[in-house]
Amino acid sequence: MELLPRETVQRWIKTRVRLHKKAIEKGIWPKCTEDDKWQRNSKFAVRKEGGKQAIKNGLFDDHKGALEKLKAMGSGYEIESRPAARIRCERFCNVRGICPQKIQEDK
Ligand code: SF4
Repeated sequence: MELLPRETVQRWIKTRVRLHKKAIEKGIWPKCTEDDKWQRNSKFAVRKEGGKQAIKNGLFDDHKGALEKLKAMGSGYEIESRPAARIRCERFCNVRGICPQKIQEDK
């Protein structure tokens, strides 16, 4: 694993400290970004019937692409619709139960 340059790490730490200070002093929290939330857009996966994983080159942003792939593969395959998700918000974030942003976005 490659280490980040020292300057990059220092800049990141300073930014985070500044954000925490602002939150404590002014009660202002920045909104989480899509990256922060580990946001995943909706996808259509072509997979073997009963399988869990998409076949190679079998993930599509739209249903049309998946349908074309399905037709090309012949029988024994199916399309799975995978809805958009915020993985961190839904499963991993320690404050997900009280997060105003999550509550707002869940409406
Ligand atoms: S639950 Fe709230 S704080 Fe946690 S990642 Fe989602 S938006 Fe961010």
